[in-house]
Amino acid sequence: MNEPQGDATSAPPSLLAVFAHPDDEALASGGLLAWCATLGVQVSLLCLTHGEHGPDQRKSNLQNATTLDVVRARELREAAGVLGIDDVTLLHHEDGMLPWSNTEQLQADISETIARTAADVVLTFDEDGLYWHPDHIAAHERTTAAVAALTGPPALYYVTIPEGTIRAIVAHADTVTPNVDDSVTSRTVLGVTNPDAFGTLAPRPTLALNVTKFTDRKLQAIRCHQSQLGNDALTFLTPESASKLLATEHYRRANVGRQGATFLDSLAADSN
Ligand SMILES: [Zn+2]
Repeated sequence: MNEPQGDATSAPPSLLAVFAHPDDEALASGGLLAWCATLGVQVSLLCLTHGEHGPDQRKSNLQNATTLDVVRARELREAAGVLGIDDVTLLHHEDGMLPWSNTEQLQADISETIARTAADVVLTFDEDGLYWHPDHIAAHERTTAAVAALTGPPALYYVTIPEGTIRAIVAHADTVTPNVDDSVTSRTVLGVTNPDAFGTLAPRPTLALNVTKFTDRKLQAIRCHQSQLGNDALTFLTPESASKLLATEHYRRANVGRQGATFLDSLAADSN
């Protein structure tokens, strides 16, 4: 396995992931983040909201005990620990409202975090927002604008979910436990009812990574987000099935930001 570029006197390379909600980091990029951490890359995460308006799958007697934002903040810290993320910044932009929030402030928050973490590589959603989630698309737009406006910018990559991945996870769940509840028309994945919303119209990747070595940790990180799971299709994944169903991650190099090779390119060489 190739080590990230850099000589003995330089700081290790730094990667900043910019996502919208606790759980995005695990499902979209858990393999890459864990891989980078293992290689000694300084891995940081900026999460723009607490996901406080998201689904709450906790047992009803727990729902009034602690508000969802507090629970999701704790779940994010746990997932970050599993993935080896060194630095987590969790902001209080309103969940579900990123496209209509103070976009100047949002972009300034992203720019400041890029500067503070001295990111060599920034990672965020592609223009399809994984499944056309407005918050994800807003994160894509504001991160792209932030990188484009910087002098001496980092490299920028976008993540998409490979087409068919979530459909296969739902099919796997149906195999393990047939869905016999007539009141449930389909299984959800992180609250999304249409598995084909993920990746179907995604831009083509420029970097496809085989993250099989890290699917155990990716699954463990997904499981940290218990408040979102309930009867979710993801709960039926085992380490063995995850090693197949979560093994591929897709990234696309942006045409803004620094161009040329980055340490992620060496991961592609190790993916084969
Ligand atoms: Zn999200």
